[in-house]
Amino acid sequence: MTRVTIGAAKIVRIEESYEPNFDAASFFADWRPEIVAAHRDWMLPDHYDIATGFLKLSVHSWLIRIGGRRILIDACVGNHKPRPLRPKWHLMETRYLDRLAAAGVRPEEIDMVMCTHLHMDHVGWNTRLDNGHWVPTFPNARYVFSRADYEHYHALDADPATGPVGQGSFRDSVLPIVDAGLADMIDGARAIDEHLSIDPYPGHTPGTVAISLASRGAGAMFCGDILHHAIQVFHPRWNSFACADALNARKSRRKVLEHCAGSGALLMPAHFGAPFVCRVDAHGDGFTPRFVDGRGTG
Ligand SMILES: [Zn+2]
Repeated sequence: MTRVTIGAAKIVRIEESYEPNFDAASFFADWRPEIVAAHRDWMLPDHYDIATGFLKLSVHSWLIRIGGRRILIDACVGNHKPRPLRPKWHLMETRYLDRLAAAGVRPEEIDMVMCTHLHMDHVGWNTRLDNGHWVPTFPNARYVFSRADYEHYHALDADPATGPVGQGSFRDSVLPIVDAGLADMIDGARAIDEHLSIDPYPGHTPGTVAISLASRGAGAMFCGDILHHAIQVFHPRWNSFACADALNARKSRRKVLEHCAGSGALLMPAHFGAPFVCRVDAHGDGFTPRFVDGRGTG
């Protein structure tokens, strides 16, 4: 279990899946075979599967404990959700909630769920199947969504020409939270409490946000899919197939890297391979990741 300390915050990675899951050449239009040779010292075997040519991407949540509160960042794919166009995520049955329990937390004890954006692999555990209905998995939590993403996907979902969006994820994992009155829609930059703040980083989706944690002089940035894979630290211009707005996705990625390099904040993405987090070092106009093992990183 990956554990990270940032000041007074104790953070645990709650894994849903970690396996070779996307063909590298389809995921990144800029991918080329020489990349593996140039980066094999850090890339193999935790970030790339040489046998299949697939990226090894983790899908996980970050559980933060600070000031007596329990906060979950991003909500993975979820169990029992029909995603036939993405077979590895179709009707999943993972032990995600058992892993949350192993970290010492029951669903009722989660105070807040924050989604960096509303793609299907970030909202899934917002809800669970109960007697044929999708109900909030974390009934006592406030769920923090970006209003820009909500309005964008709401419009697409409601239009018969484009809906349902996300293979139904908006309907089974976002709308039930709004209907239950548990959603807080956030506009622009906002402090959530004395430790957590949200800033818009549009590009991957229109309403993508980065979530910053600050405590006792230490910091971390949860960047969701502004970066999917550590190769993008070396190549900030590389967008994935899933980035909606190429220009702004690049701008936001560089801004996150500059922030982490300049402040020393730990970069805590949603999909990097082991050890799942890194520091960012700046070299002139470029960046390199400095992987840390999660211990003593406060
Ligand atoms: Zn994602």
